[in-house]
Amino acid sequence: MPHEHSRILHRVSRHRQRPRRQVRPRAAKWDRTRSYCWENVTELADAGIMGMTLPTDLGGQGASWLDTVVVVEEIAKACTLTARIVVEANMGGISAIMAYGTQAQKELVAPYVLAGDKPAICITEPQAGSAATQMTTTARRNDGGYLLNGTKHWITGGGVSKLHLVFARVLDETGAELGIGGFILCHDPDAGHDAQGFEVVGRERTMGLCGMPEATLAFRDVFIADDFVLQPPSGFKHGFADLMNAYNSQRVGAGTIAMGVAAGAMEHAKRYLQEREQFGRPLAEFQGLQWMLADMDTSVHAARLMLQEAAHSRGANGSPFPDITMAARAKLFASEMAIKVVNDALQIFGARGYGGGAAGTDVPRCTHVHHWRRHRPDPAHPACRQPSGDAHPTDPRRKLAPCTPLPLADRKPHENQNSWQKRTAGTPAGHRCHVIL
Ligand SMILES: Cc1cc2nc3c(=O)[nH]c(=O)nc-3n(C[C@H](O)[C@H](O)[C@H](O)COP(=O)(O)OP(=O)(O)OC[C@H]3O[C@@H](n4cnc5c(N)ncnc54)[C@H](O)[C@@H]3O)c2cc1C
Repeated sequence: MPHEHSRILHRVSRHRQRPRRQVRPRAAKWDRTRSYCWENVTELADAGIMGMTLPTDLGGQGASWLDTVVVVEEIAKACTLTARIVVEANMGGISAIMAYGTQAQKELVAPYVLAGDKPAICITEPQAGSAATQMTTTARRNDGGYLLNGTKHWITGGGVSKLHLVFARVLDETGAELGIGGFILCHDPDAGHDAQGFEVVGRERTMGLCGMPEATLAFRDVFIADDFVLQPPSGFKHGFADLMNAYNSQRVGAGTIAMGVAAGAMEHAKRYLQEREQFGRPLAEFQGLQWMLADMDTSVHAARLMLQEAAHSRGANGSPFPDITMAARAKLFASEMAIKVVNDALQIFGARGYGGGAAGTDVPRCTHVHHWRRHRPDPAHPACRQPSGDAHPTDPRRKLAPCTPLPLADRKPHENQNSWQKRTAGTPAGHRCHVIL
């Protein structure tokens, strides 16, 4: 590891123990009760993790993307929901505002994020998912600002976030289209920011990360003053590409969550292998399981290196954001790797992996979120948002996999076949059965 990286790791090391002590014991509660982890958010804000990428003159720590992924990995090992909040309070929407916003906009949003707000990024619409540039939400020029009209759905944090970065089709007074722009909407009635015409109209029921609201938001003639328009360097015409460029940091963050979940599941499985005894010895002594663990560890580490490489990279033309190819590659690899590693971890837990106890069923469902939102470049629309990858509600691995013979390597070298067969008598004919996930 280069010297610079080890210094960064040292700098953030004080955040590394916190998740184990405080965040992990509460993780299952948020999913079970479908509630937002406000308790964790308060602690994260106190620790300076919310908005750690913000510049120091705005109260942040000036942390790099690399600092952030190191912290996110540790938190994701303990709680996916909390890690998700950390990503969105440092990367994505907030990073677009920090890169392209005016000083006044930065000074407005910084205190919110530092105090615990996770800005919501509002792009997707019922008829514009992968094809995000087909959005129909409009922002029409009107007397010192714009009137927002439309509906966004699947908005992470809708209903808990005060800050929103809303993407809309920009129209002039005559209705002529100028491009796609970003609009900062702050809904905080207690502080005098009451966005009239803005409403949370629904919440999805998700299969994982249940503590995070995925909401439908309606905008009916919501007035956004000029001061709240996020103007990217290339203006509205090509501004969408700039705004989406900021998303490369979020991609690295999302991939890191997947990798952290896999790393956490692997650590958990490793402990179990040492504790659980079968055939008169700890499971950890069986070489077939050692190989499985070695493969898991290798995959997690490969993803970690790709993500850290992407976090350290910069895009073309002086972009402050990670390189798009490195970010997309790392996210693709990490999200697919996580599904495999988590499934293997559940296999190691045997029946307990299928139950709600030690391993629980929450982890694989949470892992699918990051696979689900995989982004793949669409060559037909170079300037548009990278479309999401396969929505895959029924992963083939969820079926009952066929029983496979216990590998020969599971035998102790000193054992001859007969004694090994004797030891496995009573198990399903020396087979290991995969659990149904
Ligand atoms: C948990 C979660 C959180 C989210 N959070 C946010 C958020 O905070 N803000 C936000 O704006 N959005 C959010 N989204 C929405 C997300 O960005 C969209 O779901 C995504 O863009 C895909 O759109 P869609 O679901 O409409 O799928 P569709 O576009 O309808 O795609 C359906 C399937 O077709 C495939 N497909 C589509 N086009 C092509 C093509 N040209 N070639 C091949 N395959 C194709 C897709 O990969 C997918 O498998 C979230 C989604 C989820 C699940």
